[in-house]
Amino acid sequence: MIIKKPTFIDKEVDCICDACGDSLYIKVAGERIKEGGQLSAEFGFASDGEDGNRYQVDLCQKCFFSTISSIKKRRNLLSLFAEDFEQPDETFGKVND
Ligand SMILES: [Zn+2]
Repeated sequence: MIIKKPTFIDKEVDCICDACGDSLYIKVAGERIKEGGQLSAEFGFASDGEDGNRYQVDLCQKCFFSTISSIKKRRNLLSLFAEDFEQPDETFGKVND
């Protein structure tokens, strides 16, 4: 016997890219699939004026890789002034191989 109880559970129905405003959900064969990523940070007492602040932005695939590209450009720039600074390659930020 199935016993049901009414509940009030928040269900994610959409996720909007904080950069471009597009939905992170795409339709594939009639199914809505979430494709994208998040950039997040949490700062503590040792930070520069951000103690207790948390940040999180949702990014679609295009904006995520645009952000990764910006980080790689910054790292490339910083590597110009430091001999022991490794330049990022195509696997930069990727956690699986
Ligand atoms: Zn976007």
